[in-house]
Amino acid sequence: MKIKAPNNRWISGSVLLVAIGLTIALALPSNFSGSSEPVVVADAPAELSVANEDVAAADLPIVQTPVVAKLGAPGTEEKILKFRAQAADIAARELARIAAEKEKKAAERRALRAKYTVNPARARISVGYGRKGRIWDLGWHTGIDFNGNFGDSVYAARVGTVIFTGWRPAYGRTIEIRHLDGVVTRYAHLSRIRVEAGQEVDVGQRIGNIGASGKAFGAHLHFETLVNGNYKNPGIWLWGSD
Ligand SMILES: [Zn+2]
Repeated sequence: MKIKAPNNRWISGSVLLVAIGLTIALALPSNFSGSSEPVVVADAPAELSVANEDVAAADLPIVQTPVVAKLGAPGTEEKILKFRAQAADIAARELARIAAEKEKKAAERRALRAKYTVNPARARISVGYGRKGRIWDLGWHTGIDFNGNFGDSVYAARVGTVIFTGWRPAYGRTIEIRHLDGVVTRYAHLSRIRVEAGQEVDVGQRIGNIGASGKAFGAHLHFETLVNGNYKNPGIWLWGSD
């Protein structure tokens, strides 16, 4: 009898604990039956966060819903069209700015190159300007002869525009270029013409080849400078002196 009371209290306590346990067990989902996993999942925060990530991914359509609604909202299409028009306008203005910048730089290069003069042929001078002689139609030599070889290159002496290419009596195959200062340079007796009338040429650009066409006794370049159709000393125009 002395131990009965404690036994009764122990049994009573045991019954109570079993009852609580059964209540919890019955309250839990069936998939927890027989599981060795801890009942309280809050003790596994890592698993919980993984579960939350899965949920977040699954909930993405809900997150997108407001955006979809905004795109479809009244006035949104107009805003998109306006934005596209503005973007196209910005792109067009940028292209125009780049084109203007390129043109400005090209003009600066042309202006710089326009200051330069080169010899029309890489050859020594065989006959100077103004020499008198019956072999020339006017009785004197109206240009400078460069004693190059047949086929050697002939160069534009300055920046300019080709105004004539073709055959001239006595001169043979001829090129004429008008320069920025109004002077016309003439390249005669050519074997080949490499430019066309109306074409802009750069200083030092190859325009043809030395030959002996027209009235010429052997291959050479006859080079003239004309101001308003009058012969001027090419040496002064080329080098500032005879
Ligand atoms: Zn000559």
